[in-house]
Amino acid sequence: MNAEASAISAAAELIADADALLVTAGAGMGVDSGLPDFRGAEGFWRAYPALGRRGLQFHQVASPRNFETDPALAWGFYGHRLDLYRRITPHAGFDILRCWGEGRFHGCGVFTSNVDGHFKREGFDAKALAECHGSIHHLQCSQPCSDDIWPADEFVPIVDTDSCTLLNEPPRCPHCASIARPNILMFGDCGWIERRSSAQESSLNHWLDGASRIVVVELGAGTAIPSVRNFSQAALIDRGAIMVRINPRESVVPRRMDISLAGPAFAMLSAIDTAMRAA
Ligand SMILES: [Zn+2]
Repeated sequence: MNAEASAISAAAELIADADALLVTAGAGMGVDSGLPDFRGAEGFWRAYPALGRRGLQFHQVASPRNFETDPALAWGFYGHRLDLYRRITPHAGFDILRCWGEGRFHGCGVFTSNVDGHFKREGFDAKALAECHGSIHHLQCSQPCSDDIWPADEFVPIVDTDSCTLLNEPPRCPHCASIARPNILMFGDCGWIERRSSAQESSLNHWLDGASRIVVVELGAGTAIPSVRNFSQAALIDRGAIMVRINPRESVVPRRMDISLAGPAFAMLSAIDTAMRAA
Protein backbone atom coordinates (compact mmCIF):
# COMPACT_ATOMS: atom_id res chain seq x y z
CA MET A 1 0.00 0.00 0.00
CA ASN A 2 1.44 3.43 -0.88
CA ALA A 3 1.58 6.33 1.58
CA GLU A 4 -1.64 7.96 0.37
CA ALA A 5 -3.61 4.69 0.42
CA SER A 6 -2.47 3.94 3.96
CA ALA A 7 -3.34 7.49 5.09
CA ILE A 8 -6.82 7.05 3.55
CA SER A 9 -7.31 3.75 5.31
CA ALA A 10 -6.08 5.23 8.63
CA ALA A 11 -8.49 8.15 8.23
CA ALA A 12 -11.38 5.74 7.56
CA GLU A 13 -10.56 3.80 10.72
CA LEU A 14 -10.23 6.96 12.81
CA ILE A 15 -13.60 8.31 11.67
CA ALA A 16 -15.35 4.94 12.14
CA ASP A 17 -14.03 4.75 15.73
CA ALA A 18 -14.91 8.35 16.68
CA ASP A 19 -17.91 9.36 18.81
CA ALA A 20 -18.09 12.88 17.38
CA LEU A 21 -17.22 14.35 13.99
CA LEU A 22 -16.09 17.98 13.88
CA VAL A 23 -15.93 19.31 10.31
CA THR A 24 -13.84 22.45 9.87
CA ALA A 25 -14.00 23.90 6.37
CA GLY A 26 -12.44 26.75 4.41
CA ALA A 27 -12.69 28.00 0.83
CA GLY A 28 -11.27 24.75 -0.62
CA MET A 29 -14.52 22.98 0.31
CA GLY A 30 -16.52 25.23 -2.04
CA VAL A 31 -14.16 25.00 -5.02
CA ASP A 32 -15.33 21.43 -5.72
CA SER A 33 -18.93 22.66 -6.01
CA GLY A 34 -17.73 24.93 -8.83
CA LEU A 35 -17.37 28.10 -6.76
CA PRO A 36 -14.58 30.42 -7.96
CA ASP A 37 -11.20 30.35 -6.26
CA PHE A 38 -10.24 33.88 -5.18
CA ARG A 39 -6.61 33.02 -4.44
CA GLY A 40 -4.28 35.63 -5.95
CA ALA A 41 -5.30 38.52 -8.17
CA GLU A 42 -5.43 36.21 -11.24
CA GLY A 43 -7.89 33.82 -9.61
CA PHE A 44 -10.12 36.70 -8.54
CA TRP A 45 -10.00 38.47 -11.92
CA ARG A 46 -10.74 35.24 -13.78
CA ALA A 47 -13.99 35.05 -11.79
CA TYR A 48 -14.70 38.80 -12.16
CA PRO A 49 -13.14 40.11 -15.42
CA ALA A 50 -14.91 43.47 -15.02
CA LEU A 51 -13.05 44.05 -11.76
CA GLY A 52 -9.78 42.96 -13.41
CA ARG A 53 -10.24 45.61 -16.10
CA ARG A 54 -10.52 48.20 -13.32
CA GLY A 55 -7.51 46.73 -11.50
CA LEU A 56 -9.57 46.10 -8.36
CA GLN A 57 -8.36 43.29 -6.09
CA PHE A 58 -10.48 41.13 -3.77
CA HIS A 59 -9.65 43.08 -0.60
CA GLN A 60 -10.58 46.36 -2.34
CA VAL A 61 -13.95 45.07 -3.52
CA ALA A 62 -14.78 43.16 -0.31
CA SER A 63 -14.67 46.37 1.69
CA PRO A 64 -17.55 47.84 3.71
CA ARG A 65 -16.68 51.36 2.47
CA ASN A 66 -17.95 50.53 -1.04
CA PHE A 67 -21.53 50.31 0.24
CA GLU A 68 -21.28 54.09 0.87
CA THR A 69 -19.07 55.19 -2.01
CA ASP A 70 -20.22 52.85 -4.81
CA PRO A 71 -23.21 50.69 -3.76
CA ALA A 72 -23.86 49.55 -7.37
CA LEU A 73 -20.36 48.04 -7.50
CA ALA A 74 -20.50 46.63 -3.95
CA TRP A 75 -23.85 44.97 -4.64
CA GLY A 76 -22.77 44.02 -8.17
CA PHE A 77 -20.11 41.86 -6.54
CA TYR A 78 -22.08 40.55 -3.55
CA GLY A 79 -25.33 40.26 -5.52
CA HIS A 80 -23.57 38.05 -8.05
CA ARG A 81 -22.20 35.87 -5.26
CA LEU A 82 -25.58 35.69 -3.50
CA ASP A 83 -27.22 34.53 -6.73
CA LEU A 84 -24.40 32.04 -7.45
CA TYR A 85 -24.52 30.51 -3.97
CA ARG A 86 -28.30 30.19 -4.25
CA ARG A 87 -28.09 28.49 -7.66
CA ILE A 88 -25.15 26.13 -7.23
CA THR A 89 -25.62 22.58 -5.93
CA PRO A 90 -23.09 21.70 -3.21
CA HIS A 91 -20.93 18.68 -4.18
CA ALA A 92 -21.58 15.17 -2.86
CA GLY A 93 -18.82 15.50 -0.24
CA PHE A 94 -21.42 17.27 1.93
CA ASP A 95 -23.61 14.12 1.84
CA ILE A 96 -20.65 11.92 2.76
CA LEU A 97 -19.86 14.10 5.79
CA ARG A 98 -23.50 14.19 6.90
CA CYS A 99 -23.73 10.38 6.71
CA TRP A 100 -20.53 10.00 8.73
CA GLY A 101 -21.97 12.39 11.33
CA GLU A 102 -25.26 10.46 11.50
CA GLY A 103 -23.30 7.28 12.21
CA ARG A 104 -21.45 8.81 15.19
CA PHE A 105 -22.86 8.53 18.73
CA HIS A 106 -22.55 12.29 19.39
CA GLY A 107 -23.22 13.41 15.81
CA CYS A 108 -21.56 16.14 13.80
CA GLY A 109 -20.55 19.76 14.34
CA VAL A 110 -19.34 22.24 11.72
CA PHE A 111 -17.09 25.29 11.88
CA THR A 112 -16.69 27.09 8.55
CA SER A 113 -15.38 30.40 7.22
CA ASN A 114 -17.46 29.96 4.08
CA VAL A 115 -20.31 32.45 3.74
CA ASP A 116 -22.21 30.41 1.12
CA GLY A 117 -24.65 28.81 3.60
CA HIS A 118 -24.12 25.40 1.99
CA PHE A 119 -23.72 23.36 5.21
CA LYS A 120 -27.01 24.79 6.48
CA ARG A 121 -28.73 24.03 3.17
CA GLU A 122 -27.35 20.47 3.16
CA GLY A 123 -29.12 19.75 6.43
CA PHE A 124 -26.32 19.88 9.01
CA ASP A 125 -27.58 20.37 12.56
CA ALA A 126 -28.00 24.15 13.08
CA LYS A 127 -27.33 23.77 16.83
CA ALA A 128 -23.74 22.70 16.09
CA LEU A 129 -23.00 24.84 13.03
CA ALA A 130 -20.84 27.98 13.22
CA GLU A 131 -20.31 30.30 10.25
CA CYS A 132 -17.42 32.30 11.69
CA HIS A 133 -17.36 34.95 8.93
CA GLY A 134 -21.15 35.19 8.70
CA SER A 135 -23.55 34.24 5.91
CA ILE A 136 -24.35 35.98 2.63
CA HIS A 137 -27.98 34.90 3.12
CA HIS A 138 -28.33 37.43 5.95
CA LEU A 139 -28.29 41.24 5.84
CA GLN A 140 -27.47 44.05 8.24
CA CYS A 141 -27.44 47.88 8.13
CA SER A 142 -24.28 49.33 6.52
CA GLN A 143 -24.02 52.10 9.15
CA PRO A 144 -24.97 50.07 11.28
CA CYS A 145 -27.81 51.83 13.14
CA SER A 146 -28.67 48.74 15.24
CA ASP A 147 -27.44 45.19 15.72
CA ASP A 148 -30.37 43.78 13.74
CA ILE A 149 -29.67 40.91 11.30
CA TRP A 150 -32.35 39.70 8.88
CA PRO A 151 -32.66 37.10 6.08
CA ALA A 152 -31.74 38.17 2.53
CA ASP A 153 -34.48 35.93 1.07
CA GLU A 154 -36.62 38.77 -0.32
CA PHE A 155 -33.77 40.41 -2.21
CA VAL A 156 -33.30 39.14 -5.78
CA PRO A 157 -30.26 40.88 -7.27
CA ILE A 158 -30.12 41.68 -10.98
CA VAL A 159 -26.46 42.08 -11.92
CA ASP A 160 -24.83 43.14 -15.17
CA THR A 161 -21.85 40.79 -15.10
CA ASP A 162 -20.03 42.65 -17.91
CA SER A 163 -19.62 45.65 -15.63
CA CYS A 164 -20.21 43.93 -12.25
CA THR A 165 -22.91 46.41 -11.29
CA LEU A 166 -26.31 45.98 -9.67
CA LEU A 167 -29.14 47.03 -11.98
CA ASN A 168 -32.04 46.94 -9.53
CA GLU A 169 -32.52 48.68 -6.19
CA PRO A 170 -30.17 47.53 -3.43
CA PRO A 171 -31.73 46.28 -0.20
CA ARG A 172 -32.20 48.85 2.55
CA CYS A 173 -32.19 48.86 6.33
CA PRO A 174 -35.82 48.68 7.59
CA HIS A 175 -34.93 51.00 10.50
CA CYS A 176 -32.99 53.91 8.92
CA ALA A 177 -33.27 53.26 5.12
CA SER A 178 -29.47 53.18 4.67
CA ILE A 179 -28.11 50.62 2.21
CA ALA A 180 -28.12 47.13 3.70
CA ARG A 181 -25.05 44.89 3.31
CA PRO A 182 -24.38 41.17 3.72
CA ASN A 183 -23.81 40.13 7.34
CA ILE A 184 -20.34 38.84 6.53
CA LEU A 185 -16.90 39.87 7.70
CA MET A 186 -15.13 41.97 5.04
CA PHE A 187 -11.63 43.44 4.90
CA GLY A 188 -11.00 46.37 7.28
CA ASP A 189 -14.49 45.82 8.67
CA CYS A 190 -15.37 47.67 11.89
CA GLY A 191 -19.12 47.55 11.25
CA TRP A 192 -19.70 43.80 10.97
CA ILE A 193 -22.34 42.66 13.45
CA GLU A 194 -20.95 39.40 14.80
CA ARG A 195 -23.87 38.64 17.12
CA ARG A 196 -25.22 35.80 14.95
CA SER A 197 -21.83 34.16 14.38
CA SER A 198 -20.88 34.50 18.07
CA ALA A 199 -24.13 32.81 19.14
CA GLN A 200 -23.49 29.97 16.67
CA GLU A 201 -19.96 29.53 18.00
CA SER A 202 -21.20 29.37 21.62
CA SER A 203 -23.72 26.76 20.59
CA LEU A 204 -21.07 24.71 18.75
CA ASN A 205 -18.77 24.88 21.78
CA HIS A 206 -21.64 23.72 23.98
CA TRP A 207 -22.07 20.70 21.64
CA LEU A 208 -18.32 20.05 21.83
CA ASP A 209 -18.41 20.21 25.65
CA GLY A 210 -20.57 17.08 25.61
CA ALA A 211 -18.39 15.25 23.06
CA SER A 212 -15.57 12.78 23.52
CA ARG A 213 -13.41 10.82 21.05
CA ILE A 214 -13.59 13.70 18.58
CA VAL A 215 -12.20 13.45 15.06
CA VAL A 216 -11.63 16.73 13.22
CA VAL A 217 -11.94 16.56 9.44
CA GLU A 218 -10.45 19.83 8.15
CA LEU A 219 -11.09 20.67 4.50
CA GLY A 220 -9.49 23.29 2.27
CA ALA A 221 -8.56 25.65 5.09
CA GLY A 222 -5.56 27.83 4.26
CA THR A 223 -3.03 29.64 6.41
CA ALA A 224 -3.60 33.13 4.93
CA ILE A 225 -6.75 33.75 7.01
CA PRO A 226 -6.31 31.13 9.74
CA SER A 227 -9.70 31.26 11.55
CA VAL A 228 -10.58 27.68 10.59
CA ARG A 229 -7.12 26.27 11.31
CA ASN A 230 -7.13 27.96 14.71
CA PHE A 231 -10.45 26.30 15.57
CA SER A 232 -9.14 22.87 14.48
CA GLN A 233 -5.98 23.41 16.51
CA ALA A 234 -7.96 24.38 19.63
CA ALA A 235 -9.96 21.12 19.38
CA LEU A 236 -6.69 19.14 19.31
CA ILE A 237 -5.18 20.94 22.28
CA ASP A 238 -8.23 21.59 24.48
CA ARG A 239 -10.39 18.58 23.63
CA GLY A 240 -7.95 15.79 22.79
CA ALA A 241 -9.20 15.52 19.21
CA ILE A 242 -7.30 13.86 16.36
CA MET A 243 -7.26 15.51 12.94
CA VAL A 244 -7.54 14.50 9.31
CA ARG A 245 -6.30 17.50 7.30
CA ILE A 246 -7.36 17.51 3.63
CA ASN A 247 -5.70 20.24 1.60
CA PRO A 248 -4.17 20.19 -1.89
CA ARG A 249 -1.35 22.64 -1.06
CA GLU A 250 -0.94 22.96 2.71
CA SER A 251 -1.53 19.53 4.18
CA VAL A 252 1.24 19.35 6.80
CA VAL A 253 -0.17 18.25 10.18
CA PRO A 254 1.01 19.33 13.63
CA ARG A 255 1.54 15.85 15.19
CA ARG A 256 2.47 12.33 14.12
CA MET A 257 -0.94 10.99 15.17
CA ASP A 258 -2.80 13.39 12.83
CA ILE A 259 -3.42 12.40 9.22
CA SER A 260 -2.41 14.47 6.21
CA LEU A 261 -4.09 14.07 2.83
CA ALA A 262 -2.78 16.28 0.01
CA GLY A 263 -5.71 16.58 -2.35
CA PRO A 264 -9.03 18.27 -3.08
CA ALA A 265 -11.96 17.89 -0.66
CA PHE A 266 -14.41 15.81 -2.68
CA ALA A 267 -11.85 13.32 -4.08
CA MET A 268 -10.39 12.66 -0.63
CA LEU A 269 -13.80 12.36 1.10
CA SER A 270 -14.91 9.87 -1.56
CA ALA A 271 -11.73 7.82 -1.17
CA ILE A 272 -12.13 7.68 2.63
CA ASP A 273 -15.82 6.78 2.27
CA THR A 274 -14.96 3.92 -0.12
CA ALA A 275 -12.36 2.66 2.38
CA MET A 276 -14.94 2.80 5.21
CA ARG A 277 -17.46 0.79 3.19
CA ALA A 278 -14.83 -1.81 2.29
CA ALA A 279 -13.77 -2.28 5.93
ZN1 LIG B 1 -29.93 51.22 9.65
